Amino acid sequence: MNLILMGPPGAGKGTQAERIVAEYGIPHISTGDAFRAAMKQGTPLGVKAKEYVDAGKLVPDDVTIGIVRERLQQDDCKAGFMLDGFPRTISQAEALDDILSSMGRGIDHVVDLKVDRSLLLARLTGRRICKSCGSTYHVMFNPPAQEGVCNKCGGELYQRSDDSEEKVGTRLDEYTNKTAPLLDYYRGKGLLRELNGEREIDEVTAELRETLRGQA
Ligand code: ADP
Ligand code: ADP
Ligand code: ZN
Repeated sequence: MNLILMGPPGAGKGTQAERIVAEYGIPHISTGDAFRAAMKQGTPLGVKAKEYVDAGKLVPDDVTIGIVRERLQQDDCKAGFMLDGFPRTISQAEALDDILSSMGRGIDHVVDLKVDRSLLLARLTGRRICKSCGSTYHVMFNPPAQEGVCNKCGGELYQRSDDSEEKVGTRLDEYTNKTAPLLDYYRGKGLLRELNGEREIDEVTAELRETLRGQA
């Protein structure tokens, strides 16, 4: 199954992707995670991405497309993949079409998680992430059993620096201006499946499963 998970920052893409990939045995490909890992290691990619990520702006298309092209050619993508946070511009979507068609493959579903802007702000500023395993929590909506500690691995939880109120505004504007037009692009291809992302995490997962089974 070749899947794309779309939605504005804070819609729940990472949270849902974590659950679905475990069930389907496909890799979770998050360009945001790839940039953060490269930034942490200080690689040339990380240095390039940092000024954009820190400002809440999109990283330039050529850089971003290169990463995904390489990743999709790896063996573990043969069974399928879940793209989270890519594509985010029309150029990225067109490049993805080219990459996949050159591999003789296509996209099965593009799922859009719909969440109102006012709720996104609360989700993003309360988000916490495990330093060790990357699991995502929320201080109010999905708190860990012990404050600041990961349920799964005991790792320390941290807040992303771009989840500050100041950066979140820029990121949501980037979404509206550059990413939202993609919905029409995929609607036109008959691939778009729209889901209410405002419900409880488990309810969204249940609906997502139904959608992927083609019963929704
Ligand atoms: P994205 O990857 O789309 O930016 P995340 O999956 O990281 O979003 O979710 C953003 C924040 O909202 C996290 O703190 C997460 O725990 C929380 N969250 C995700 N889905 C829901 C939901 N359905 N209801 C309430 N909170 C949620
Ligand atoms: P969220 O889903 O919460 O917005 P991500 O982890 O997906 O966050 O992305 C974090 C940052 O990484 C973005 O603000 C942007 O700077 C960069 N980024 C991630 N994916 C892309 C992409 N497809 N194109 C350009 N920049 C990206
Ligand atoms: Zn952890």
